[in-house]
Amino acid sequence: MQYDYLIVGSGLFGAIFAHEAVKEKKRVLVVERRGHTGGNIHSERLDGIDVHTYGAHIFHTSDETVWRYINQFTTFNHYQNCPIARYHDRIYNLPFNMNTFHQMWNDVYTPAEAKARIEEQRTEIHGRPTNLEEQAISLVGRDIYETLIKGYTEKQWGRVCSELPVSIITRLPIRWRYDNNYFNDPHQGIPMAGYNTIIDQLLDGVPVLLDTDFNENRAHLSSLADKVLYTGALDAYFDYSMGKLEYRSVRFDHQRLEGGNQQGVAVINYTDASIPYTRSIEHAHFTFTETDVSWVSYEYPEEYHQTGEPYYPIADERNLSLYRRYRSLADGERRLLLGGRLAEYAYLDMDKTIARALQLSKQEFS
Ligand code: FAD
Ligand code: UDP
Repeated sequence: MQYDYLIVGSGLFGAIFAHEAVKEKKRVLVVERRGHTGGNIHSERLDGIDVHTYGAHIFHTSDETVWRYINQFTTFNHYQNCPIARYHDRIYNLPFNMNTFHQMWNDVYTPAEAKARIEEQRTEIHGRPTNLEEQAISLVGRDIYETLIKGYTEKQWGRVCSELPVSIITRLPIRWRYDNNYFNDPHQGIPMAGYNTIIDQLLDGVPVLLDTDFNENRAHLSSLADKVLYTGALDAYFDYSMGKLEYRSVRFDHQRLEGGNQQGVAVINYTDASIPYTRSIEHAHFTFTETDVSWVSYEYPEEYHQTGEPYYPIADERNLSLYRRYRSLADGERRLLLGGRLAEYAYLDMDKTIARALQLSKQEFS
């Protein structure tokens, strides 16, 4: 064999595994179906601004090991994510916090008043919530559900909230303080020199074949190495033999606009159904860059077809059970390793992706 590991996918998971393997003197080859490395954290420098090609990426973690690890490759700036929501002609702060509650109900000033107002509204839900609508109302009451959740979520997922799983909304933090920081983690920021430089360092000295789809050259490529680490979609690996895993996709419309500072904030969520996009992102704010032009990306949620990009797994019972069946097929392949957000059919933030890649590396190399 020419290589110890063939790594399918040059995203964060594949790149970290490759880096750790090279440190252990393993011979690795990376294959990547896109024309660039980095997977979804890739960005492009346009007019001096790092434009996040596949949606805004804000690094945040409470995992000290991950924080130390990633800081070997970059320094983070002090960006804190404080998105705002626009509903018709009004602006609300996110995540749901005392600012939002006061904006929603002018006569609410204190945490006790906010809790009392939400308590009044949540009584309409009896028993354990069985879908996203019930879960949202039982967490924040009907007013916030109707204004800040319903329209956004139905656009994002293309289904009515009463048919969506509870799990989607458990990600939203609620804060009984006047505090617009979206994340609770102690560490947060944007890499000063961009995400691409992290990937470039991780893949330094590693051969990478771009524009190469593993599944189209499977027999030949897997014959080159003892083991294969696959970070792509698991149903594709098995030629969809048991059916397709469902995803939600997004179309990113990147616009170059004359004049800087178009939004005054990096992220705006559009929570009413009449606007077709869910978010607009003004990239210069991530790095506090002041320029005469601006790059703003509009996010249009879309149906996923196997030719597009799979972004958000639809983690309902049907898909999870299909995934488990593919997973047990994969477990039968002695030379196959799986990892990353696609192969695990899970929404993994960057810090979780790093932690899992380090865990797999440790398992393989110690
Ligand atoms: P990917 O980045 O998807 O990399 C997989 C790679 O494998 C891709 O390059 C793909 O082209 C390649 N590949 C797949 N199949 C094949 C094949 N058959 N042959 C060859 N190559 C193949 N995380 C955060 O922490 N903060 C955020 O703000 C954040 N925002 C996000 C916004 C969006 C819209 C999305 C979708 C994700 C976001 N994430 C965020 C999550 C973050 O993108 C992931 O944690 C990270 O990119 C996962 O890395 P990965 O290597 O597992 O997957
Ligand atoms: N959400 C919402 N209103 C918002 C932002 C988020 O209802 O203004 C809901 C929506 O259901 C979304 C989920 O919260 O799918 C998770 O959103 P988050 O922004 O945390 O995740 P992302 O879409 O960035 O991965």
